[in-house]
Amino acid sequence: MADKLQPIKYADIKPGFYGWAKKGDVWDNTRHLTKSGSSGTLCGLPMLGNNYANSTEGSGKEVGCQKCLEKYNNS
Ligand SMILES: [Zn+2]
Repeated sequence: MADKLQPIKYADIKPGFYGWAKKGDVWDNTRHLTKSGSSGTLCGLPMLGNNYANSTEGSGKEVGCQKCLEKYNNS
């Protein structure tokens, strides 16, 4: 199995990217990343209005979605 990517703290996300999570992601610590102006996460989830979402609120929170982290690291 490939090495697990290190989670990124919301406070450390580079400009133009934001953390995003639906409720289940918060409990599982698999918060996602999105790019400014995009309607989906980096891993392809649609960010629907009825999903729980927060952006940069809570700087101690971490992005844990491996697919999002991979794309983020390659961006
Ligand atoms: Zn993701």
